[in-house]
Parts: sequence; C-alpha cells; structure tokens
Amino acid sequence: MIKAVFLDRDGVINYDYSCVYRVSDFTFIPGVFEALKLLNDAGYKLFVITNQSGIGRGVYTEEDVEKLHAHMLAQFEEHGINVEKIYYCPHTEDAYCDCRKPNPSSILDAQKKFDINLEESYFVGDRNTDIECGDNAGVKTVLVGNTDTEPCNPDYREKDLLSAVTNIILADGKN
Ligand SMILES: [Zn+2]
Repeated sequence: MIKAVFLDRDGVINYDYSCVYRVSDFTFIPGVFEALKLLNDAGYKLFVITNQSGIGRGVYTEEDVEKLHAHMLAQFEEHGINVEKIYYCPHTEDAYCDCRKPNPSSILDAQKKFDINLEESYFVGDRNTDIECGDNAGVKTVLVGNTDTEPCNPDYREKDLLSAVTNIILADGKN
C-alpha cells in the first residue's frame, strides 16, 4: 500500500482568480514546487481533485481544462514532480453527480487503482468542501489559506501548501 496526498487545485496549487481556465491566468503559488518535490521524495503519490463547474455552466470547455492541466503537468515535470492523476468534476452543483466534492468518489477510485492506505494519506484544500471530501474518504485533512469563512473542522490548519507539507505531513511521517 502507498501513501498519498490529494490536492485541491485552485487556491492550493495556483492562485484562485475565481474562474481560472486560461494558461495566462494560471499562477503557481510560491513554494508549491518545493512542497510537491518534498512529498514525492518522501514517497507520497500525488493526486489533484478539482471541481470545475465552469464546464457545466458553459463558461469554458473540457478542452480548456485539459490544456491547462497539460501546462501544469509540464511545469511539474520540469521540477521533477510526478502527479499520478488529475480528477476533475465538470458538473454543476444541481446536477447531483457523484464526482463533485465533497463526494469522495475520486479518492475512493484512486484508492482502488493505486492501492492507497487512506489512514496514512491527506487532503490539502482551501475550502470546506475539500475538508468534507477528505473526511468522507477517511483521510487526514489540512485546510490552507482562509478562503471560506464558514465553520470548518480540519485536522490541521496551515497558511499554504509548503507549510502544510513541512509542518504537518513530513513531521507526521517521522513519528
Ligand atoms: Zn461531477
């Protein structure tokens, strides 16, 4: 079994400018490459799980998202970072699909395909739905940033991904 870190995209990997689908609007948050490299080196498999309801609302297309993700993965590769899989939900909330966070179906799919030990794994996100998604799947949760003002009960809170990785995930692994 392997350990994994599930990552929300907007607000964790890149700045969340509310509707990010152009490569020119995609700005990596400082420390992200360092953080992900540290996780890879520590033996964590990486997954991105993102809600992209802009597709369902007709704001942008699946092609836009695929293009953006190819750009993101190319940048990761240049930094020696390997992401196993990106899951995105293209649906709007009122479609009641089973792939939109906080539904844990993406995590459970990855668990089966990659034989992941969920108890040793984490979800890092900036919204309540990320924390609920992690809770629903049975992984540890880290809330980064402070996008949501609604009450939220993550296992940990950190200012960004790099501090989540260095203060929590890698520190935990040493215990
Ligand atoms: Zn969906």
